[in-house]
Amino acid sequence: MSVKADPCSQPSLMHPDQAIALLLEQVSPVSDTEVVPLPQALGRVLAENLASCIDLPPFDNSSMDGYALRFADLNTQTNRTSLRLIGSAFAGHGFEGKAKANTCVRIMTGAPVPVGYDTVQMQEETEVQGELVLINHPKGKGANVRCKGEELTQGTKVLTAGIQIGAAELGVLATIGVSQVRVYRQLKVAFFSTGDELRPVGSELAPGQIYDSNRYSIQGLLSRANVEWIDLGVIADDPEAIRQAFRTAASQADMVLTSGGVSVGEADFTKQILDEEGQITFWKLAIKPGKPFAMGRIGKAVFCGLPGNPVSSMVTFYKLVWPILNKMQGLTPVTPLMLDAILTTPVRKHPGRVEYQRGVLSRNTQGELEVAITGSQGSGMLTSMSLANCFVLLEQFQGDTPAGSKVTVEPFNAVLC
Ligand code: AMP
Ligand code: MG
Repeated sequence: MSVKADPCSQPSLMHPDQAIALLLEQVSPVSDTEVVPLPQALGRVLAENLASCIDLPPFDNSSMDGYALRFADLNTQTNRTSLRLIGSAFAGHGFEGKAKANTCVRIMTGAPVPVGYDTVQMQEETEVQGELVLINHPKGKGANVRCKGEELTQGTKVLTAGIQIGAAELGVLATIGVSQVRVYRQLKVAFFSTGDELRPVGSELAPGQIYDSNRYSIQGLLSRANVEWIDLGVIADDPEAIRQAFRTAASQADMVLTSGGVSVGEADFTKQILDEEGQITFWKLAIKPGKPFAMGRIGKAVFCGLPGNPVSSMVTFYKLVWPILNKMQGLTPVTPLMLDAILTTPVRKHPGRVEYQRGVLSRNTQGELEVAITGSQGSGMLTSMSLANCFVLLEQFQGDTPAGSKVTVEPFNAVLC
């Protein structure tokens, strides 16, 4: 990996947008692909462009329950015409006969429009009178008919390589009869927490100890990011234990992700070991919560070191690691949704860093979007993340912001929900 910038040598903090661009330069997408059956394709990244091998819909069919008819038979002067009923067409069981002048066929939604008919009159605008059906106020020729190929014609591109397969894409693939797809191989991420004070859940806490929460939030984030994860537990602040954990992680994974041990004073072990075993760069970012972040390489694996404070580790994962993972997964980048909202609580902020305060976005009685900050914004207070449904994005040199101001919000997306 070529490390182009040395952010530590920079007197000022680096803007996160600039950092993301530099970080992304240091990773490449996986090239290995595999073919998976449709039910296993959810969340995977499509590795091929897909064209439809059929017309969609494959045949003219009715979009309503009603009567198939020939528009030419209708009296457009009186807007009322009686037609003779000669049969029925059901979804999956078409009408076998042919159209005759001044006749109609009872037709259900999804049934093929019988040969020779061109229009469907919805049931609610008809009256059945014995063998006859009175057609009232017909719409134009072709009404309520979904024409063969109107959505897609055979050979049209349907899905593009680099998209993430979601529920809609699974349905689209099934619609065109695809039973398996080529996707990029799933990334493996090995992660561990560092810190002598950390204990796993399920154990007793001695004085000065806390539960390791980051491993669980990271596990959740990695699951949502659709990567395979390997949990290597809590590693003590001990150089040899950390060295061993790095080696184990790097031998198994495409990315080694750690939390803690990258802030001033603590970084020494991580730095010393990665200087010996690989490469590391420390980044001081103009981002709050966050600021310290480390990236490097160990063996063939990319290394990302998140700060230990629980909110900082989630925010830096979301803002920095997730885009890195997306690129490595072969995903085409998607611009996050940003909205304007009216702030209902004042915000305290010192100019200097881009802040991602946690907020609750809602619509007020006038129909406007408004956002309230979720109380205290300490970088250790993880409840501020769980109460929130969006980030309130405050620019680097912005200061305190009064209630009533217009602010930019970034709703939590699938990785954070
Ligand atoms: P560090 O980045 O290691 O200096 O840790 C910063 C703060 O985050 C300290 O208060 C740590 O106790 C806390 N912390 C570090 N790792 C974790 C973790 N895995 N879970 C919860 N808190 C953590
Ligand atoms: Mg620590």
